[in-house]
Amino acid sequence: MVDFQGILNSIHDDLKAEEVKGIVASYIPELSKKDVNTLGLFMQHVDGRSFSAGDAFTPFSIQSISKVLALSKAIAYEDNKIWERVDVEPSGNPFNHLSLLELENGIPRNPLINSGALVIADILVSHLENPKEDFLNYVRDITNDQTIKYNFKVADSEESTGFNNFAAAYLLKSFNNLNNKVEDVLDFYFHQCSLEMSCAQLSKAFYLFANGGKCMKGKKHITKKQAKRINAIMLTCGFYDEAGEFAFEVGLPGKSGVGGGIVALLPNNFIISTWAPGLNPRGNSLIGMQALEQFTSQTNLSIF
Ligand code: GLN
Repeated sequence: MVDFQGILNSIHDDLKAEEVKGIVASYIPELSKKDVNTLGLFMQHVDGRSFSAGDAFTPFSIQSISKVLALSKAIAYEDNKIWERVDVEPSGNPFNHLSLLELENGIPRNPLINSGALVIADILVSHLENPKEDFLNYVRDITNDQTIKYNFKVADSEESTGFNNFAAAYLLKSFNNLNNKVEDVLDFYFHQCSLEMSCAQLSKAFYLFANGGKCMKGKKHITKKQAKRINAIMLTCGFYDEAGEFAFEVGLPGKSGVGGGIVALLPNNFIISTWAPGLNPRGNSLIGMQALEQFTSQTNLSIF
């Protein structure tokens, strides 16, 4: 039997002592207030056991991790129709890159870069009656936790500084790949990114991707095939221009956010989340990636 608790403790202690911790994101001003020394880890096994170390229960800004949750809801509505509007190829470019949109006639490379996530946000704005409220309820439902909230300060902070996302949305609109008003799509997207969840909550939310589409309560939200596809997209696109490095070091499908969170999972086995706000130059949590590398190496559990 693998000593998961012992492994989490030793990774936590080892990385707490690490001197180089990366840089906390400041392009969204509200995010810059976080302490670079924070480290949380939470592992949820599909058999029900869970293990934690450090700051595993403090909610933080999940940012781009929300793109996977939005994708799962959009896939539940539209299934394969989604792929007429967004591709499934790794971009090899930063998350906020724009030129690919122009090169490929307004079809973003994948749903996890910003332009692709804006198309997914547009799909949800079209389907949901009260988009922000309904999406929040979806996330609460899959996590089985009614305490999850948006952070309106973070959403406002990004709404007043997110010019790159405005540019991406207008570019998509010019290619007829946004059906709703640019302002409505961005307002939804900024709120989606402002969701605050802890490592524990993230691991429970992502349970459905490790469990063939069924959440911890046993409710089916997406099909097995859709869960397989979302995991494939996380593996190839979840870390933008560092997706190769994450597969190479960690070997799991996963998703990062500029709030310093990472969620990764091994289908039919476990989900693990880390939170360490210092980012590497590619916008992924520096210590989080190291923690996950240590975890899959020490447990010998990865998709490879
Ligand atoms: N809300 C952020 C943005 O759109 C999300 C980026 C991220 O977490 N990589 O820039």
